[in-house]
This record gives sequence, C-alpha cells and structure tokens, in this order.
Amino acid sequence: MSELRWNALLGEWTITATHRQDRTFLPPRDFCPLCPTRPGRAPTEIPREEFEIAVFENRFPSLESQPPEPAVDGTDLSPVRPALGACEVIVYSPHHDATLAGSSIEAIERLITVWSHRTLELGARPEVEYVFIFENRGEAIGVTLHHPHGQVYAYPFLPPVAARETAEARRHRERHGTCLGCDLADEERADGRRTVLETPGWRGGVPFAARWPYEVHLAPTRHVGWLHELEAEERSGLALALKTLLLKYDALFGFPLPYIMAIHQRPTGGGDHDEHLHFEFYPPNRTETKLKYLAGSEAGAGAFINDTLPEETAARLRSVGPTGEAAR
Ligand SMILES: [Zn+2]
Ligand SMILES: [Zn+2]
Ligand SMILES: [Zn+2]
Repeated sequence: MSELRWNALLGEWTITATHRQDRTFLPPRDFCPLCPTRPGRAPTEIPREEFEIAVFENRFPSLESQPPEPAVDGTDLSPVRPALGACEVIVYSPHHDATLAGSSIEAIERLITVWSHRTLELGARPEVEYVFIFENRGEAIGVTLHHPHGQVYAYPFLPPVAARETAEARRHRERHGTCLGCDLADEERADGRRTVLETPGWRGGVPFAARWPYEVHLAPTRHVGWLHELEAEERSGLALALKTLLLKYDALFGFPLPYIMAIHQRPTGGGDHDEHLHFEFYPPNRTETKLKYLAGSEAGAGAFINDTLPEETAARLRSVGPTGEAAR
C-alpha cells in the first residue's frame, strides 16, 4: 500500500509505503539485483549483459504513475491522496564494486546527462511538482544494496526542504533584488575559510551554518537552476568537483565515507522560480568511529547541533585527498 497522508500539525505530506518492508535487504553479491544479467543466471533488474548506466522504475515504489486507492478515508483536517509520482533507480555502473570517486570524468559526465534527462522527462509530467535526485551511500545510513546507484523521486507536491529554500530565495530576491545562492557564494568566496574545492564553473565548501560536521555544498558559479542548463565546460567542472569531493571524503578517515547526496534543482511544476542549483552532501560521521544521530533537538525541535566548526572541517577536507587537476 502507498498513499499520501496530510500532517496537519506540520503542514506537510507523509508518504506511507508499507510494501517497502519486503524490499531486498543486503543480498549476497551473487544475487545482486543491480548487476547485469549473466548468461545462465537468474535475471536481475537489468535484462542485459552490458550497459553503461541503467535507469528503471523502483520495484518497491513509494510514488507511482498508477497508485492504488488509499487504504483509509481522509477527513477535512487529515486528507489523504493517492501516492502519484515516480520512483526510479539509476545504476551508475555495471561493475558491482565501482565507485563514483573511482570513475572517469567522462563516466561522471554521462551520469550528469542522465540526471538531466530524468529531470526533464519526469518534470514534464503534469502531476509532478518536484524532481529530486539523491544517493544514499553506506550501511550507516540504511543502504540496502551495495552496487553503486542513486534514486530519483518525482513528487506531486513541493517537499518541505524545497518549499523552505524556495521561500527563502523569494524573500531574498524581494528584499535585495538578487539571487540568494549567488550572494552566498560571493560572500563565501571572499571569506575563503570554508571553501573546500574549486573547479571550472563550480565551488564546493562547508556551509556557514552546516548541520553535519563534514557537510559540503557544491554550486555552479553561474546562476543556473537546472542541471540541463549547464554548458559543456560546466558539466565537466561539476564532474571534477564531484570526483574531487568524493576522493577527499574517502581520504578523510581512510574508508569509503557514508553520505547522503541531495541535488536541489528548481521545482518543475510551473510558477515563478529562480532558485540556484546546488548539491548537498551529508556524511553522518562526526569522527572515524562516531556517527551523528538525529536526537532530541534535531528530531523533536528541528534545531541541529553541530559539535564541529565549519572552518575547521573545511580546512581538514582541503588538506586530504587530491585537489584540482590531480583528481582527474
Ligand atoms: Zn551488483
Ligand atoms: Zn544565483
Ligand atoms: Zn539546498
């Protein structure tokens, strides 16, 4: 079953998706559903022996184009809607042990092109308000399949984080007549203490008010709202920025750092939008062995407590792993 239930206290939708309890959990590697289908072996999710990048609909979707009728009746205060939308899986590579950090710049550029296509195609559906591309990496944040992959959710509503960022960007533009993303980037570049990397057309840094110790945001220097608006040189600058950041993350503690990657593009549901494209990375590690959990203040009050200084974590990330052209 899946449906959208309105949380009247917070003014937001919750997606209930109960069939997800049955989903594949850490299968042995011989049964990886994201590997190519080998001759004489059971078929995987990808019915081909070879591919570069594969995209398919999630077998256990939270949102789908033909959603079932909701399991309960809603009320005026607590409405319920069918879970309309889409959930897709993007498999980055046919190789089970591949990593994005270990991929060539060309392979990462291909992935960026796939992200652009999925945004355009899903965003064109009339029911879709927001296309969200993300990756969960590492068991520490609940990854159930190790094969390198990311996901796309196409929501029939503006999700809360996008709604807040959109509202702040609008408020800033009304007050100053400029883009919040551009102005923040100018300030950060002038200060420099929180900058982690710079590549052609892109800058990455720990945000001034980071919620997570090694949180990093990547943003294009030019005012761009969607991935498909990037010029060829900016796409290659983004690939290099992604690769550099992930190599730094893996060098930080000497193991593949778990993280959540969130791509924040403009909403696709029409209306007057002028937000600045950016990527956000949240690794859960506070230290090599300690994870940050969302506890009382974060979960119950929505106020994050970060027990590290963004200036110090940025300096640490600058000093580990390759920088600039060395990352190629
Ligand atoms: Zn695999
Ligand atoms: Zn901007
Ligand atoms: Zn954001």
